[in-house]
Amino acid sequence: MRAVRLRAWGQRPVLAEVERPVPRDAEVLIRVEAAGLCHSDVHVVDAAAGALPYRPPFTLGHEVAGHVAALGPMADGTAVGERVVIHGPWGCGSCARCATGRDNYCDRRGELSWHGVGLGRDGGMADYVLVPSARHLVPIGDLGADQAAPLSDAGLTSYHAVAGLRHALGEGGTAVVIGVGGLGHLAVQILRATTASQVLAVDIHEEALALADRSGAHFGTLLREDTARVLRDRTGGVGADAVLDFVGATATLELAAATLRPGGELALVGSGGGQLTVRKPGFLPPGFRLSLPFWGTRPELAEVIALARSGALRVETDHSPLSAAPQAFDRLRRGGVRGRVVLVPD
Ligand code: NAD
Ligand code: ZN
Ligand code: ZN
Repeated sequence: MRAVRLRAWGQRPVLAEVERPVPRDAEVLIRVEAAGLCHSDVHVVDAAAGALPYRPPFTLGHEVAGHVAALGPMADGTAVGERVVIHGPWGCGSCARCATGRDNYCDRRGELSWHGVGLGRDGGMADYVLVPSARHLVPIGDLGADQAAPLSDAGLTSYHAVAGLRHALGEGGTAVVIGVGGLGHLAVQILRATTASQVLAVDIHEEALALADRSGAHFGTLLREDTARVLRDRTGGVGADAVLDFVGATATLELAAATLRPGGELALVGSGGGQLTVRKPGFLPPGFRLSLPFWGTRPELAEVIALARSGALRVETDHSPLSAAPQAFDRLRRGGVRGRVVLVPD
């Protein structure tokens, strides 16, 4: 079968021929129908040796949907032919967090050489992917695989981040989404579907602001010197209750700090490597809270799939054949993608 492999740090991903895995024990083999390409994949491919705990070679692809093709002798909880999406943040499988589907916050996270499927373990940019247990699967019914795959990270991470901000948003309030790409456009939709907040969007590309508008944002603006003032004006001068930063550059973190209302909360999701200094006394608003949400839980993924099946979420997809994956990486790195690239085995 074909697979998009990261062979060694510092090398471009390559489409290679590898052996199709055979499920053993409780493992489940999934025939891939769609795999999303996340900006984290670009960060992984560009990472210096030692920056991440993974040990190449492995197959990329952590947003995966398809159907069950074969079961190991001990596998239960699914059946051949079932259409599923993979809950990707695999933990140790035995701690209290993993036992309740919160593998994203596995107690042994620091000891593992992977973050999940396609992130240190063989992933779904391939014809087939092996899943350690059916507990990592969520049924999708008749939802399109090209929708379900991005929902398992771009959707789930945004949903988990919004869930963490719900108390800050209360009844109404203002939420700012910085970076309206794969994650950000779904964050806008999730805010609109699950909160009563006013949603403001910021990006560096006009086309991304158009996507924010299509996703239901009330207002969008390009990142400029006076963006904090422009955003504050939209809140009657008081500032935003919550900011979701899907970029994580120093400029966007500083924008978030300058835009938040006292008692406001920043969710830093993007891995842009920027810095924000926490100091007291300092310039952060009083009552400032920060979270670093990572992916999401399995129960939350089931909620995201249900929300999408109800019609409340629509991933803007940009289809590419699996065989053109290396070119899709280049396009995403250049900023030439709107919404989510979905790789489809051709
Ligand atoms: P993407 O490339 O699809 O979208 C990024 C968007 O940000 C684009 O619209 C781009 O124009 C915009 N942008 C870039 N620089 C900007 C700036 N300085 N100011 C404003 N907008 C800017 O990326 P994505 O797949 O949505 O991922 C977003 C980030 O989230 C990445 O850093 C990714 O690694 C990270 N991520 C984190 C988690 C997590 O669990 N915490 C999960 C998935 C992705
Ligand atoms: Zn991702
Ligand atoms: Zn665990």
